[in-house]
Amino acid sequence: MRCKDFVFLQSSGQIPSLGWWRRSSTLAHVWICRHCRSFRHNDELLTAYVAQLQAHWDSADQSAK
Ligand SMILES: [Zn+2]
Repeated sequence: MRCKDFVFLQSSGQIPSLGWWRRSSTLAHVWICRHCRSFRHNDELLTAYVAQLQAHWDSADQSAK
């Protein structure tokens, strides 16, 4: 697996839906590649942040109605 493939799979959120073999190759890749490890970390932080923001918008929507 190359960095480009990993970044694509991670950023498109496809990793959980992959078969175990491809999922293990993504795990092996982040284990050996520190660039993708920090990319994954940032992507997880960003995903959590966006989810919080979404929840905030949703509650703002509710009170506006
Ligand atoms: Zn990489």
